Amino acid sequence: MSSPANEGLMEKIVALCKRRGFVYPSAEIYGGLAGFFDYGPLGLALKNNIKNLWWKQFVSNRDDMFGVDAALITKKEVLEASGHVGGFSDPMVVCSKCKHRFRADQITRSDLGDGKKVGPFCPDCGGALGDLSQFNMMFQTHVGAVQEENSVAYLRPETAQGIFTNFKNVVDSFHPRLPFGIGQIGKAFRNEIAPRDFLFRLRELEQMEVEYFVKPKEWEGVFEMWRTEMLRFLESIGIDRTKTHELEVSEGDRAHYSKRTFDFDFDFPFGRKELYGLAYRTDFDLRNHQTMSGAKLEFVDEETNESFIPHVVEPSLGVERSVLAVLLSAYTEDEMNGEVRSFLKLKPAVAPIKAAVFPLLKNKPELVAKAREVYQLLKKDPAFGGAVMFDDNGNIGKRYRRQDEIGTPFCITVDFDSLEKGDVTVRARDTGKQDRMAIQELTIFLRNQPAS
Ligand code: ATP
Repeated sequence: MSSPANEGLMEKIVALCKRRGFVYPSAEIYGGLAGFFDYGPLGLALKNNIKNLWWKQFVSNRDDMFGVDAALITKKEVLEASGHVGGFSDPMVVCSKCKHRFRADQITRSDLGDGKKVGPFCPDCGGALGDLSQFNMMFQTHVGAVQEENSVAYLRPETAQGIFTNFKNVVDSFHPRLPFGIGQIGKAFRNEIAPRDFLFRLRELEQMEVEYFVKPKEWEGVFEMWRTEMLRFLESIGIDRTKTHELEVSEGDRAHYSKRTFDFDFDFPFGRKELYGLAYRTDFDLRNHQTMSGAKLEFVDEETNESFIPHVVEPSLGVERSVLAVLLSAYTEDEMNGEVRSFLKLKPAVAPIKAAVFPLLKNKPELVAKAREVYQLLKKDPAFGGAVMFDDNGNIGKRYRRQDEIGTPFCITVDFDSLEKGDVTVRARDTGKQDRMAIQELTIFLRNQPAS
């Protein structure tokens, strides 16, 4: 699926993320740890903006949703009931020569590398691949001082189970009527056989998930409703819609719990791959938890008086795949003043910095003082949430380049005229166009920019 425009794109994004403080390899000074990344100041801001937009759209702006934040370490019984202890595994093959490990389903699918089927040979060294084995992807730990069979627990492999185990608590506290949902954002851990492609396949990731509980007959309408919401979300954070594709997952490829699944795929530079998933999980999870725990997880239908276990529709979105798709959608190269410029055309709603303020010259105290005044004005304005930067390093051209590269929509420069006339230059990232504007009008102007 790689188009010529994709040539070197991942390398550019990875380098930009490191250089400008978005994402660093975890434990980099010790050589890194495969499948783990740390967020720097700007990546953290971008990620939080995405998470906050999700939370507003999927939870807090709705009146049928509740939020929870469950523990990361999960009791063994929970994951036995959900099927993860028995079946959360990927098929693995090991190369007999170089000992590299591969996910068998990935190396025989045509989406790997140059698209060739590699058959029984190692894609790295050509050696013979060994027999297929199943590899459980959960990270196991022990709770308490004694390490024995009974003390085994797991880092959760998905946020969903923490929602199902709190279903009864939320019902008992709030007495909601169906349909209603519970949403959660949080870490999940998967010991992926082959972590790869930067933020795409991680061992520590974050998910934004909703479990939406419905009467069994009503799942189809709800499935469509969440499908529309997911498309709306993609757009609101600036993911390129021409690169997203909806795919109905066939029965053979669906997870064990699902009766219908839609994948939302994105054209990553390394191929068309899953960005998000939407699944109809039936009553699989609640039923198994009811059986295993003995807790009653049923609802009584007001019309028929019959007891039933609610069915579930689950929109599941990865935070890191969102961050990566947003960066790939925003990355742009153009020519400005005879030079190639690279910039992030981020929607203001997700941009880590909403505006940057510069004094024209660093060595003129009166300009610096005025620029600091303008900076403080914006910095304290709740509309920008403190996402304002002061920069007096290097010449003005270099400062513009730095802000362009991190996606700051506007740069504001204080010059000698500003001291006399009380106005500033406002420069727009996407066009490079500069306008004079009174300092008093600045906050209104920036507040009135469309956020997305
Ligand atoms: P894949 O087939 O790519 O392994 P999956 O179908 O196992 O993904 P789900 O279990 O449906 O993924 O997880 C829901 C979402 O969590 C995915 O759509 C994705 O956005 C994110 N996700 C899952 N696994 C990872 C991972 N290893 N690294 C980063 N994000 C992930």
